[in-house]
Amino acid sequence: MSRIALIIQLLLIINLSFSQNTDKEVVRKIFDNVLTSNEAYNNLEYLCKNAPGRLLGSEESIIAVNFMKDYFEKLGADTVFLQEFSTPAWKCNSTEVSILVDGKEIQLRADALGPSPSTQGKGLFADVIEVQGLEELKALDRVGIQGKIVFYNRPVDMKIVSTFRVYGSAIDQRYYGPRVAAEMGASGVLVRSVGTRIDTFPHTGSTGFKDIKIPCAAISTVDANILSKALKDNNALQVKMIIDAEDIEEITTYNLIADIRGNEFSDEYIVVGGHIDSWFNSPGAHDDGIGCVQSADVMRIFKELGIENKRSIRVILFMDEELYQSGGNAYADYSDANNVNNYLALEADAGGFTPEGFTVDASDSVVGIISGYQSLLEPYGIHYIKKGGSGVDIGPLKKFGVPLMGYRTDSQRYMDLHHSAYDTFDKVHIRELQLGSGNMAAIIYLIDKYGL
Ligand SMILES: [Zn+2]
Repeated sequence: MSRIALIIQLLLIINLSFSQNTDKEVVRKIFDNVLTSNEAYNNLEYLCKNAPGRLLGSEESIIAVNFMKDYFEKLGADTVFLQEFSTPAWKCNSTEVSILVDGKEIQLRADALGPSPSTQGKGLFADVIEVQGLEELKALDRVGIQGKIVFYNRPVDMKIVSTFRVYGSAIDQRYYGPRVAAEMGASGVLVRSVGTRIDTFPHTGSTGFKDIKIPCAAISTVDANILSKALKDNNALQVKMIIDAEDIEEITTYNLIADIRGNEFSDEYIVVGGHIDSWFNSPGAHDDGIGCVQSADVMRIFKELGIENKRSIRVILFMDEELYQSGGNAYADYSDANNVNNYLALEADAGGFTPEGFTVDASDSVVGIISGYQSLLEPYGIHYIKKGGSGVDIGPLKKFGVPLMGYRTDSQRYMDLHHSAYDTFDKVHIRELQLGSGNMAAIIYLIDKYGL
């Protein structure tokens, strides 16, 4: 090696380690800031207490959007706007499910699945067929199912370690169960809640009807056990279901978008977001108020520390992840129509517990670049950055080749509270929330600085 080449190489090494030191210092500053800031936590408290049940189309969903819009304006975002779109919606007013045992009416704790239709007249009274899944139902004679309520009661598989996979072990009953039962002539469906606790909280969620819609609801795991036992004692037991719900043909609603402009490539957007809606039965603390306030906190951190961003940072609080996923699709359509260059998108919608890592849905080379930042984030709880899924709201950007990322946390408590009234503000720990904001801000800082 010539002397000049040696000098150049030494300079490169010095420069590299200098920038690594600088990055280490910036990341440290991010965490010094975030671990002493209550703003995101306070914002989450507001959302949970003043806008619980903020399902698409509800007044609460708009209260939440307006509150966060004011917050972005207060932060001094360069642009804050409501991205308007139209979509069908659905509303649940009440769900009642009961059984008659020894002449005594026992209420089962239940919440309608979205978009269940209302029951007609005075409600639905029918015999019940308990099954352990779709295959068992499909194997039965259709004649025996006519007019009955199908009760899907297969519990989740608790032997699985990741609770997202535990959820996956029984979600087919909720998503496809009402469709299959309706096609076979059933009059209604009850589903054992897809959750990891035996408790009295029903966990609602979306169901995928095709042509025929029948009333359907989730009952809590305790109530599923009560119903199953009552059926064993009396197989002529009748269930009463009264659901008051309505389809709404079209509403106008919004994604909330706030940008801080980049100083070099301002037309390239690094998107970070969560979904502002929650199910009608839930304050939506972990799902996904926390993803929203953490994403907003990324902007606060950049602003307060005066971090220079080359690319524009775009925080999006998506509407309607839960029911029809209309917000994510509307943003993808908007991006397409306006030639928006989404450089990368990161979604936080997997609970706000202790950080674990990031998953990256992109080419191997992009995964390689981003996973190279793991050692910088390791001291703050990031134990992996690996290929994997991202988030429902940013998913529609994949068709444009946008690299996508998901923020991941310890999943053990998430399915205790997902889609239920148990998902309250007090389940959120401030330091876990802050570590999430910090890691999201840090990874965006690094991606913006070095590019992909
Ligand atoms: Zn969610």
